[in-house]
Amino acid sequence: MGSRHAGATVRPRGREVAPSSGTQPSVSPSSGSPSSVSPSSGSPSSGSWPAALPAAPAAVARRRPAALLAALVVGATVALVGTQTLPAADARESVEVAELLGSDAEGLLEIEPTPQLAITEVEARARLEEVAASRAERADRVAKEQAAAAEAAEAAAEAARPKASPPVKGARLTSCFCPRWGTMHWGIDLAAPMLTPEYAVEDGVVLRAGAASGYGLVVYILGVSGDVTVYGHMEKITVAAGDVVSAGDQIALLGSRGQSTGPHLHFEVHSGGVDGKRVDPVVWLRARGVEL
Ligand SMILES: [Zn+2]
Repeated sequence: MGSRHAGATVRPRGREVAPSSGTQPSVSPSSGSPSSVSPSSGSPSSGSWPAALPAAPAAVARRRPAALLAALVVGATVALVGTQTLPAADARESVEVAELLGSDAEGLLEIEPTPQLAITEVEARARLEEVAASRAERADRVAKEQAAAAEAAEAAAEAARPKASPPVKGARLTSCFCPRWGTMHWGIDLAAPMLTPEYAVEDGVVLRAGAASGYGLVVYILGVSGDVTVYGHMEKITVAAGDVVSAGDQIALLGSRGQSTGPHLHFEVHSGGVDGKRVDPVVWLRARGVEL
């Protein structure tokens, strides 16, 4: 009841101040005349403002927890000093702070380290495992990215690689796939200097490589097209039966062995297999983008 009465007496005083020191003049700087400011700030009876009254008790209340917190931190630090080896300077500093705080700090020495200052060995091991797993995952990701990049580069190289090759480069066509001297010539003759490299005309597997009557030396290659290409009269064979070859791989060095009148390659195409129908190699190569 008494406080209510006191409140009633304060309110009128507040009203008396309001017209002169109302919040409106103090907020707007344009009308900030000295007369309107001085009553609010200069008035010694701050008790007239209800907001000013709790200011002092609040400050005291705030200071106490701060001191308590400092003591807690020092206490925790000191407790840690007991179990762990800290640098000498840190230890000395902690002791000095403890001395400054006096008996209050001594009473808090038994406080255990807070969870933020220590984790269990189990937790540490779990963390180590997390780190190891994270690193392994990263290494795996990098390896996969590198593999993907290598695969893409390989695919690009494969796409750029010619799928057909002339059997001899810079050669001269001296005999066609046509009747010659009264008999059919089942291949073409490509004249070039001795030991000129000869190449597989498409990707395939070497079926046969060695001596053969008429050809002197001969190479048969079963290609990815299903057709068999035949190369004869070479001086030297540089592949063996079973070898996997790509279009453009060297298979032999040009020669003049067997029934030959000069250094040249005799080249045939057997459609669909060794015993398949022999077709015009010029047409066959042209269909694959190779002009002789
Ligand atoms: Zn020939």
